[in-house]
Amino acid sequence: MERTLVLLKPDAIQRDLVGEILSRFERKGLKIVGLKMMQLSDELLNEHYSHLVGRDFFPEVKSFMQLTPVIALCLEGTDCVNTVRALCGVTKAREAAPGTIRGEFGMSVQANLIHCSDSLETAQVEVPRFFKAEELFEYPDALINYVYSAR
Ligand code: GDP
Ligand code: MG
Repeated sequence: MERTLVLLKPDAIQRDLVGEILSRFERKGLKIVGLKMMQLSDELLNEHYSHLVGRDFFPEVKSFMQLTPVIALCLEGTDCVNTVRALCGVTKAREAAPGTIRGEFGMSVQANLIHCSDSLETAQVEVPRFFKAEELFEYPDALINYVYSAR
């Protein structure tokens, strides 16, 4: 079972899409193992978006991510990193496939509603960046045999 990090960005919160997005993950069969609201600091964003430091749009991305608190989510499931990535759609929301979260709800590159880890290696760094060990939970999943059957 993999775990991945998801952030619901300030545009998702302002546009009242939190329930819609959480519900998509639940209905897919992914398990919520961590969930909280947080205001992102400069330090955390510099680390989280270190691959963008130096790009001309980075200051704008940072202030966008600080407009409101974000909702951080840790999801668990078989192949969950790629599954969540596929549900989110590509970075440029206008070009994201219909049916994906960005494809259904977004028009912007920057305000694209959601962050999700882009690989298992990234997820293994990003989950502990946003969640302390005691904020992540293990609990029985009553529907696991129905969601996965033979996997
Ligand atoms: P992601 O993994 O799909 O979120 O994309 P990246 O890791 O490449 O970029 C991180 C975030 O920075 C994106 O989700 C956007 O919010 C923002 N971003 C990426 N490219 C651009 C850009 O060209 N312009 C602006 N304004 N924001 C961008
Ligand atoms: Mg990325």
